[in-house]
Amino acid sequence: MDSIGEVPNPPTDPELADEVVAAVRRFVEAEVVPAVGELDAADRYPDELVAGLLRLGLFGATIGEAYGGIGLDTVTYARVVEELSVGWMSLAGVVNSHLIVATLIATHGTDEQRQRWLPRLASGEVRAALSLSEPDAGSDARALRCVARPDGEEYVIDGTKMWVTNGERAGLVALAAKAPEGITCFLVDKQPGPRCGGITVTRHVDKLGYRGVETVEMVYESHRVPAEAVLGGTGEGGGLGRGLPFVLGALELGRVNVAARAVGLARAAFETAVVYAGRRQTFGVPIARHQAVAFKLADMATRVEAARLLVRSAAERIDRGGRADVEAGMAKLFASEAAMTNTEEAMRVLGGYGYTTDSPVERYYRDAPLLVIGEGTNEIQRIVIARRLLERYGAGS
Ligand SMILES: Cc1cc2nc3c(=O)[nH]c(=O)nc-3n(C[C@H](O)[C@H](O)[C@H](O)COP(=O)(O)OP(=O)(O)OC[C@H]3O[C@@H](n4cnc5c(N)ncnc54)[C@H](O)[C@@H]3O)c2cc1C
Repeated sequence: MDSIGEVPNPPTDPELADEVVAAVRRFVEAEVVPAVGELDAADRYPDELVAGLLRLGLFGATIGEAYGGIGLDTVTYARVVEELSVGWMSLAGVVNSHLIVATLIATHGTDEQRQRWLPRLASGEVRAALSLSEPDAGSDARALRCVARPDGEEYVIDGTKMWVTNGERAGLVALAAKAPEGITCFLVDKQPGPRCGGITVTRHVDKLGYRGVETVEMVYESHRVPAEAVLGGTGEGGGLGRGLPFVLGALELGRVNVAARAVGLARAAFETAVVYAGRRQTFGVPIARHQAVAFKLADMATRVEAARLLVRSAAERIDRGGRADVEAGMAKLFASEAAMTNTEEAMRVLGGYGYTTDSPVERYYRDAPLLVIGEGTNEIQRIVIARRLLERYGAGS
């Protein structure tokens, strides 16, 4: 079994869920909104805001209470991600790979790996990064070339990894590499910083949007890890050769995160547009009274609502256990396209002002495209959804 649904958290008490979401909203209004413009423009890592995420316990959002996390169910987690992303989508990226890695360990780790890592991930003392992609292997993950060669009680790792979110600050990297048995996930213990043993951060990628969050290239040169670093252990039924299904299963949580980010972004674009349209006058009336603008607002709000419902449905499916690849894929596909459309529509509603840094809309417009690429492109989502549907309906066999 390779689904994160094997160890779902119990349903979050509705009152607690509302309290957590309200606390995140207060944090966004008081701390994120006033700071985001400058941080985004400077592409500066938001240390102060990350301290706020720590204070709110969000590095342990989906980690079970037994390990010191908040143990939120996925439905509540998605609401938290939406609120964060209304303020700044990048903040949702800071916790995303961290919690995917925590899920990988909770689901597939040995007892020792759970005891060793989960409490430190839950407190935020250690931050985690997920490293699957390479310069020549993104959608086609099986084409990855990073190798892990056994040498006595150790593995020697060589290869180049690309697009590692939080890579430099991470103290733990869940790394996919080719062992003799096939692609295997290694829990690589590292010191935060640009160099550690045979690992070097060789490049910080400069991006259109999603700024503030570090996205790095990491090179492994004869980097040694102990055999205990194999996620799930090296014994019979352990993790050797099972890295890809492990990681792809845990990415369902990542897809819900990306889809919920998209809901937050699409909502922020709508809210900015609707307020502006009520204020801005042309031809003697607020532009919201022109039907062409009013219809845009109606469509934008409808997209937000529809995207949120799909995210909720995918999150509920994960919370029930079992695979949720179709639901998570549909939510990610629809919500990210909604974010693309809403951010462009918001720019049209704001006219010239939407095209300037005086309004947050230009940032929304730069942030949205990541959502159609990250966590599996939307083309890949369509392939996954179609394949499962064809199986379900016995079509195409
Ligand atoms: C800011 C950022 C952060 C990221 N963070 C991480 C991270 O933390 N960890 C990590 O491992 N990865 C990360 N990624 C990598 C991300 O997951 C990949 O970029 C994504 O999977 C796409 O891979 P690619 O860029 O190599 O594109 P490619 O796979 O080369 O695809 C190029 C184009 O071809 C299309 N395509 C490919 N195959 C098919 C097919 N079979 N049918 C139809 N169309 C196809 C794609 O949809 C796309 O349009 C990040 C990426 C970005 C941009």
